[in-house]
Amino acid sequence: SSNNLQGYAPICLGLEDFYIRRLYLRIQDCFGRPIASAPDTWFDVVERHSNDNNKTLKRTTNISRCLNLASYNYLGFAAADEYCMPRVIESLKKYCPSTCSSRVDGGTTALHNELEKCVAEFVGKPAAIVFGMGYVTNSAILPVLIGKGGLIISDSLNHNSIVNGARGTGATIRVFQHNSPSHLEEVLREQIAEGHPRTHRPWKKILVIVEGIYSMEGELCKLPEIVAICKKYKAYIYLDEAHSIGAVGKTGKGVCELLGVDTADVDIMMGTFTKSFGSCGGYIAGSKELIQYLKYTCPAHLYATSISPPAAEQIKSSIKVIVGEDGSSRGAQKLAQIRENSNFFRSELQKMGFEVLGDNDSPIMPIMLYNPAKIAAFSRECLKQNVAVVTLTFPATPLLLARARICISASHTKEDLVKALKVFDEVGDLVGIKYFPAESDKQ
Ligand code: PMP
Repeated sequence: SSNNLQGYAPICLGLEDFYIRRLYLRIQDCFGRPIASAPDTWFDVVERHSNDNNKTLKRTTNISRCLNLASYNYLGFAAADEYCMPRVIESLKKYCPSTCSSRVDGGTTALHNELEKCVAEFVGKPAAIVFGMGYVTNSAILPVLIGKGGLIISDSLNHNSIVNGARGTGATIRVFQHNSPSHLEEVLREQIAEGHPRTHRPWKKILVIVEGIYSMEGELCKLPEIVAICKKYKAYIYLDEAHSIGAVGKTGKGVCELLGVDTADVDIMMGTFTKSFGSCGGYIAGSKELIQYLKYTCPAHLYATSISPPAAEQIKSSIKVIVGEDGSSRGAQKLAQIRENSNFFRSELQKMGFEVLGDNDSPIMPIMLYNPAKIAAFSRECLKQNVAVVTLTFPATPLLLARARICISASHTKEDLVKALKVFDEVGDLVGIKYFPAESDKQ
């Protein structure tokens, strides 16, 4: 799906096409030569249609305007924002689309330095470094932070970019049960007692990796407890705030603000710009020494082209709106709106009898379908009524824990949400995925 709620509808149709295509490719792999021509229907083109939540989903012969409940555009900045867009256009004229250079070889403009300063201030850390892609931020940073003789303890549901990054480090990797501080402590205690499996030497470094909001679960990290455990066992903590920065907390500062954790207690803060900021790229924020070290050693800083200037301007401008430096109260309104929208939608879904995962304030709410055979029916029936959602199963989740994932935005109106609820109510009955009695049936 696209991350752009304002402009693009998600590709939630035809999951079966996707699996058939994968199967074709697997068979092709086994025989070592093409044995069939697989139709590429999964990779549809979506078109921008308007600057509100109604989108055009164009699928070969089928064009429909959809309400997009699938994108990560939490604050509605992936749109022609009145403050951001003129500045983005100006930056395009001034700097062009690309620097065509890495940060150290002429790819650092004044805008890049301003952005890093702005991000560090926003997330509450002394310094920050930005990259052209969120995925690469995780996968390229982890191997620079830790190596052989080190121990990574990773939440079992961490994002693929973390898993790939961790695998590239050479460190020993252990996984703790999803969002379970007690299991994390158990693993830490055991690993510290045993040391490195071959040498039995003490670990050179221990890095615990968690996410602020888990993207498939909509769940907030139990950060206060996890931070306390990391302090107790002298482990570093790495927090991926892709889905929480800008989206939660009174002033949008993420899970630390929401859960009352001092950012000084989180050693490495990572986040992406592809969600709340309506742009692309990722950041690492931390101590001045850490960021200086990364600037000298991280291959994705030394050898990759710097983040596109218009994308950088979009991030900087959207942060200015969030903190109110644009001279308006739009940022505060967006933050209040996403919270209100999320909590309203979640409680209404629960009243209807759906099993909804996640916590209050989280804009991600998975509706459990369980049976993977139901995902195509659910998404097709919703789409027939012009509501677009993402449906998921293996490999994004375990096969029998299929779900529809709703992403709420500050730019959804009350009418949008009421319309979507009506559609889900009907489709939920049709597909048979209401596992609890509805509030209205209880008396
Ligand atoms: N971390 C997490 C937790 C994510 O969910 C994602 C992608 N949604 C990424 C990193 C990668 O970010 P990007 O899409 O900006 O490359």
